[in-house]
Amino acid sequence: MSESISIQPNIHCEPCKECGARPVIEQTRKGFVVVCPTDKKHFTTKPGLVNIDEWNRANKKSPVLNAPQYKNKAS
Ligand SMILES: [Zn+2]
Repeated sequence: MSESISIQPNIHCEPCKECGARPVIEQTRKGFVVVCPTDKKHFTTKPGLVNIDEWNRANKKSPVLNAPQYKNKAS
């Protein structure tokens, strides 16, 4: 099993939207992921650099992403 690295308290992280846990960082063979310590199925970022932004966007309770700014344009 890989070891979990806790994220520094001064870094803003949204709690897991499934269980409210603070995410941790894990090192995988492909890179670092930000993952829920309770269950990886809750959310895991893509392996690579530590991407807390991706975690925060996915776990925000009130998504800011629902403003439909860009529709797919047929090119
Ligand atoms: Zn969770």
